[in-house]
Amino acid sequence: MVLMENIDWLNYKGLEYRDGNLFFNDVSIIELSKKYGTPIYVISEQIIREKYRTLKKVLNSEYKKNHIHYAVKANSNISILKILNTEGAFFDCTSQGEIYTCFKAGIAPERIIYTGNMFTDNDFEFAVKNDVLINLDSISQLDRLVKIYKSLGKEKKTISFRINPEFGAGHHIHDITAGKEVKFGILEHQVVEAYKRAKHFGFERFGIHQHIGSGINNPYNFEKAAEKYFSIIKKLASSLKINFEFIDFGGGLGIPYHANEKPLDLEKYKEIVVKPFKKLIYVENLGEPVFKIEPGRFLVAESCVLLTQINTIKDNGYKLFAGVDAGFNILIRPTMYGAYHHIMACNKIRGKKMLKYDIAGPICESGDILGKERELPELKEGDYLTILDTGAYGYAMSSNYNSRPRPAEILISNGQPFKIREAETFEDLLKNQIIPDHLK
Ligand SMILES: *Cc1c(COP(=O)(O)O)cnc(C)c1O
Repeated sequence: MVLMENIDWLNYKGLEYRDGNLFFNDVSIIELSKKYGTPIYVISEQIIREKYRTLKKVLNSEYKKNHIHYAVKANSNISILKILNTEGAFFDCTSQGEIYTCFKAGIAPERIIYTGNMFTDNDFEFAVKNDVLINLDSISQLDRLVKIYKSLGKEKKTISFRINPEFGAGHHIHDITAGKEVKFGILEHQVVEAYKRAKHFGFERFGIHQHIGSGINNPYNFEKAAEKYFSIIKKLASSLKINFEFIDFGGGLGIPYHANEKPLDLEKYKEIVVKPFKKLIYVENLGEPVFKIEPGRFLVAESCVLLTQINTIKDNGYKLFAGVDAGFNILIRPTMYGAYHHIMACNKIRGKKMLKYDIAGPICESGDILGKERELPELKEGDYLTILDTGAYGYAMSSNYNSRPRPAEILISNGQPFKIREAETFEDLLKNQIIPDHLK
């Protein structure tokens, strides 16, 4: 039998076949599927903690004054935020809703950076009132922010700008967030003006930020942007005498989605980003700014699997389809980005023949394919499949398209399952609708 995944790779993912049954984090996937129904997201607390600790250790080994801000948009379940909060993480929010969720998770405002883009005055009011650090995305926003400070009578806090270092990277064009054509950040030729203006308005404490893209597995893809970023920081420091409180390198750290692919080499990342940062602050005499990064995917993607049941095996004479109960309403990455998620059979009986299947969801669009031409042991209706690495941008990007309620989320903690989110009901689908009198 062809083994699609080697044992080390599976172990690394927290997966293991025991007597032909797949276990995730020591829990039988089929039992979970039967107990809670499918589709269902299953998250491992232990894996989240391990990812955080691994990254923290690498950073600490080079530069202790570092903050890891978890990018909340990857997965904003309160339990996940609480897990990372107990690890000592900081948080990166892109919206008021994410900040609100952090507060509900008991996270202190000083642990949050608000990297919005296209900020409204209302966003600024919310952040200023709640003492949350704002990371601006455009010079014009500064003027509006100053007015808000004034009208609320609040003392000015640290201010930061997102720099667009032009050298982006990422697994898909939508996920590359630097470059002249990209909407994010401030290009080099406006950076000095931005900080000059901020000084002029009376800001006294500064940070600086970049985030170049997402799903970056080759550490060398961070190199050019980092070099550009360093040259901008150098210029700012010398021309405006700015001492940065923090220098933020954004997120983007990738994970191995493909079977047998290697994880991002964190030691190399350290060589390419952290060491040159240390050199820069030493050579330029920049004091001891906090080194910040903002991983989302890296911390949570691999902590979670999506379980789904096969309802239909269709052989149309040309192709084999395995029809499942999870579609792009629940996991949109394959449809939206052509992203690869490894898919495994939950019961793999040795000696079964291998066949190629398209794994198709129930949404009424032909793009609703979770995996193309996947080689799997012969499947039958009623079998279960596991979709790997769904912890980041999985539930967070789910929708009610086709009027399908979102699924439940289960947290595995010390081998015990805990429901951390109920599945939605039909009632939930309709709860915000208002029928005008003449239609009643
Ligand atoms: C999305 C985002 C991140 C996290 O990206 P990952 O690829 O999940 O690490 C970090 N910072 C900012 C500003 C982002 O927009």
